[in-house]
Amino acid sequence: MQESFENSVKNMLTIIGEDPNREGLLKTPQRVFKAYQFLTSGYHQDPKEVLGDALFKSSNNEMVLVRDIEFYSLCEHHLLPIIGRVHVAYIPNGKVVGLSKIPRMVDIFARRLQIQEQMTEQIAQALAEVIEPKGVGVVVEARHMCVEMRGVQKINSTTTTSALRGAFIKNAETRKEFFALINSPKEMRF
Ligand SMILES: [Zn+2]
Repeated sequence: MQESFENSVKNMLTIIGEDPNREGLLKTPQRVFKAYQFLTSGYHQDPKEVLGDALFKSSNNEMVLVRDIEFYSLCEHHLLPIIGRVHVAYIPNGKVVGLSKIPRMVDIFARRLQIQEQMTEQIAQALAEVIEPKGVGVVVEARHMCVEMRGVQKINSTTTTSALRGAFIKNAETRKEFFALINSPKEMRF
């Protein structure tokens, strides 16, 4: 499998006008293979299992928010980077999840070929299914290198997507609180 991957990279190098046998490129196919193994390692991990491993009983029914989770992904259309931040909130319904598991779950979804809208939904869905909370809110803000590097849009344009469940849809106050919290300036919160 690795050999076939490396041959494909060599072919690609040739097609774009390079010489895959020049010194600087000799190890490139191998390096690209290793990089892709890491960047797509999310296919071999189960985000729900990660969340399910750290569930605790709790009587807390206030919003839990994990803000500014950085992620790096690859778009499924061009295999170019998507770089951004995820904000995740939920309102517990008897169960809470270990806080470090939320960024780990985000990484698992990010380390697959993605489109931003789909990743946003997947994160919300996994939380809804495993924690069974009263509500879930997920907002993803990201920059797409396939847009910026190809000059389709202005540099630094950010795409924002959101996925809401339960109380975050039904209750306008909850939704308002969530968006106010994620939009509040960071330096004021610490
Ligand atoms: Zn793309």
